[in-house]
Amino acid sequence: MTEAADRVFTNGTVRTLTGERAGAVAVRDGTVVRVGRASEVEFLVGVETDVVDLGGRVLLPGFVDAHTHLPMVGRYARHADLRDAADPECCIARLADAADAREAWILGFGYDESAWDGQYLTREDLDAVSDERPVAAFREDLHVASLNGVALDRLDLPADDVRADDGEPTGVVVEDAVRAVFSAVEPDPAGTRDLLLAGQERALELGITGVHDMVARPAVARAYRDLDRTGDLDLRVRLNYQRELLDAVETAGLATDHGSDRVRVGAIKAFADGSIGGRTAKLDEPYADAEPGDEGSADTTGRWDTDPEALAAFADRIDGQFQGAVHAIGDAAIVAVLDAFGGRDAAARHRIEHAELLTDGLVERLADSGLVVSVQPNFLKWAREGGLYESRLGRERARACDRFRDLLDAGATLAFGSDCMPIDPLFGIQQAVTAPAEGQRLSVTEAVRAYTEGAAYAGFDEDRLGRVEVGKRADFTVLSASPWDADDDAIADIDVAMTVVDGEISADGR
Ligand SMILES: [Zn+2]
Repeated sequence: MTEAADRVFTNGTVRTLTGERAGAVAVRDGTVVRVGRASEVEFLVGVETDVVDLGGRVLLPGFVDAHTHLPMVGRYARHADLRDAADPECCIARLADAADAREAWILGFGYDESAWDGQYLTREDLDAVSDERPVAAFREDLHVASLNGVALDRLDLPADDVRADDGEPTGVVVEDAVRAVFSAVEPDPAGTRDLLLAGQERALELGITGVHDMVARPAVARAYRDLDRTGDLDLRVRLNYQRELLDAVETAGLATDHGSDRVRVGAIKAFADGSIGGRTAKLDEPYADAEPGDEGSADTTGRWDTDPEALAAFADRIDGQFQGAVHAIGDAAIVAVLDAFGGRDAAARHRIEHAELLTDGLVERLADSGLVVSVQPNFLKWAREGGLYESRLGRERARACDRFRDLLDAGATLAFGSDCMPIDPLFGIQQAVTAPAEGQRLSVTEAVRAYTEGAAYAGFDEDRLGRVEVGKRADFTVLSASPWDADDDAIADIDVAMTVVDGEISADGR
């Protein structure tokens, strides 16, 4: 006699991504044991089986976000979220609302002064939030922060990166000073756990069943493992450790893929360059625009974070033991990553992160290199008419950014992620399907694949994740409507009805 299923999802549309359509899925011990028409799955319903009526909803393999920063997602949830604030007054109001009396600092994240007159938040603005407690508001890109008077007095910041007017600090700090503020407000272990729980809750609401988190602090890796141990981790997590942690990871005897069912070691992450927004992505030709008030930067081509020689040394050091993941945005940086990592054993699945500005030659080289191309469809929001890409790079190079169709056609493996801008797979899928360059648009199936199977492949997980198939883990995203039937411009508006990890319903928005 066949053993009954633990749970059966039935009466829906199951998009398996195997090429077959189905209406029902049966799960036992967290694994898919049958996929088929409702009538073909029903015989696995026993007295103890939980039968979930999908009511015509659409069940997909669970979304895997291949590039994220979950503590940041938690910060937006726990502190003031300034991302869509329309003016400084709105920032001040949100900071005042978010002030939690149990904490020393009042914090806000994600402000973008281009929404108002282009002036960063000032000490005066933030003194209006509190003149007793320290207040810090971080700009979206984390390269700029604003502080109130109490915070300026309290912190000992590198003077070069503290902006002043007539010798008086304006409250605006940049680069190294931002990093110093960020470390000063880093939470303790309980706070780190709380940020991850808040980030996890948000991810599950958005239909995400797994994340590849870019880990900059050992405390975060520790907190993930603690959550796993106490049974509080509902997501699957791959930890991509920042290169500064390589010695510690190696000393601890870890290697790529070590870990538990839920938490595994992923890649070691390095940065080749910076960002297009910050004019620090490393380009072959200079930026099209100069930084306002900074004549000297008019012909800048960006800067190296890790130069080509050091990248090659990094590749030699980790190859054979760890997967590498290298952030490279400008065309010159992408060449350097290909030179360092191309031609190595494809089994290592080294990854390039972002790969934004591409020539035809680079598209071909990426496809031939065997590197996993970990890209963020969200970034297409900068490719729109008059957007960031056009102002920084000029029209021609703006069109050469985020060439997902060309990459797929050339045979590259795409893994989609959000980089938290914002975290939201359906938003990303909509961006990929509606890319401003018509020739670069993906079909819904291709975009969903990159956010499921492609991301699973980037994490050596294609044997257990990425499709709804017998033998795979029962990680599903259930949508209230089909992105295949929706208007392309309305995909991001589809509600996530359920998020299922190992057959357990982790978020239920029915
Ligand atoms: Zn990132």
